Amino acid sequence: MSSFSLQFLGAAGTVTGSRYLVESHGRRLLVDCGLFQGFKPLRLRNRAPLPIDPASLDAVILTHAHLDHSGYLPLLARLGFDGPVYCTPATRDLCGILLPDSGHLQEEDARYANRMGFSRHHPALPLYTETDARACLQLLQPVEFGRTFEALPGLSASLRYAGHIMGASMVYLQSAAGTLLFSGDLGRPTDAVMRPPDPPPAADWLVLESTYGDRLHSDDDVLERLAAIICRTIERRGIVLIPSFAVGRAQTLLVLLDRLRRSGRIPSVPIYLNSPMAVEATRVFWEHRDGHRLSEAECESACRLPRVAATVEQSKALNRLREPAIIIAASGMATGGRVLHQMKAYAPDPRNTLLFAGFQAGGTRGAKLLAGASTVRIHGEDIPVRAEVANIDMLSAHADRDEILAWLAQMPAQPRQIWLTHGEPTATDTLRLAIDQRFGWACEAADDQQRVVLDAA
Ligand code: ZN
Repeated sequence: MSSFSLQFLGAAGTVTGSRYLVESHGRRLLVDCGLFQGFKPLRLRNRAPLPIDPASLDAVILTHAHLDHSGYLPLLARLGFDGPVYCTPATRDLCGILLPDSGHLQEEDARYANRMGFSRHHPALPLYTETDARACLQLLQPVEFGRTFEALPGLSASLRYAGHIMGASMVYLQSAAGTLLFSGDLGRPTDAVMRPPDPPPAADWLVLESTYGDRLHSDDDVLERLAAIICRTIERRGIVLIPSFAVGRAQTLLVLLDRLRRSGRIPSVPIYLNSPMAVEATRVFWEHRDGHRLSEAECESACRLPRVAATVEQSKALNRLREPAIIIAASGMATGGRVLHQMKAYAPDPRNTLLFAGFQAGGTRGAKLLAGASTVRIHGEDIPVRAEVANIDMLSAHADRDEILAWLAQMPAQPRQIWLTHGEPTATDTLRLAIDQRFGWACEAADDQQRVVLDAA
């Protein structure tokens, strides 16, 4: 009897820690290998052992390079996994930037915690190091979109364009028992930079993301909103600080700021990119020009726009700006990285604006600030927040509820079962109801650790 199984090892009831175990004929494949981020109990899960021995895994497939999908890989490899990690060429290039940086940040945070003495662990240890991260990169095996390859014996796989960020893919698995599609993170049909996601192929089973399952992105013109926020901040002689993912969001912001600047809709104040990683990611953008909608000229103009803070000294200088400016700095949910230092410097002044440009997971500083927190805890210190706090959610790299439903409506046939993942519980449940109402398809929220056997019909 032909069957394989699927187990949810993360991103069930939460938006981070994407890890899905597929077992077939005694072989094991992990689809995505993400870090948990956000609330502390989630972050602690990164240190909990996996329910399986990493050395027993035969292969990994990554949907994309975001750390909540790829960031556990260095630890997985250090713990004994040495099989192939399949992903698109752009995902490989972005992982080459993101994973070493993630290791470096973890080392930096551990060092900082030890120096300041605010960690409960003595000494605080990084989850993994930059060296661990560089070592795992040799496992990455790039596969072009649309090419079918054998992921495990008897289980073939292909990657489909998902929009979202450079290189982002759906994962389509085909076995004798049936077909299983992972949506990965789905992009938007109208994104300024990425093309719309490919329509879904026919699949017996579908694992579908639900980040924005309970929300619709505003129809407002993103350029207008961005221009209005920037102009009023500059009028107050303030700084616009934009916490941003270094990969994806930072490039989109540069493209939009470049358009605003060229059309004269924002004053010509300095624009700083405080993330060496974002600069490298912008180069990946440039190199994979078939992966997005931008023309060569648009790409070049956006790449040339910012002044780059490459060194730590240049980054520190950005904490002492006296004239209006725009700063883009990682990380996107203000969970770590250089943006924390600028947030410390600029959050207390009402002339400034903290501008968030995407989904803020529960428990992150970004989520607290958007909920109206009057202080923010950074490096063990409570910093008063008097700056304007704004959000541009249409810059999200995720499809909203109606966009997910429109994508689903393109399925050539009804799937036997859908499991919803990668969402906070309310978002997931709202999407479940919407799918039930619109299509009447079998659909449930995946439970953490739930294991399902996928049998031929
Ligand atoms: Zn993502």
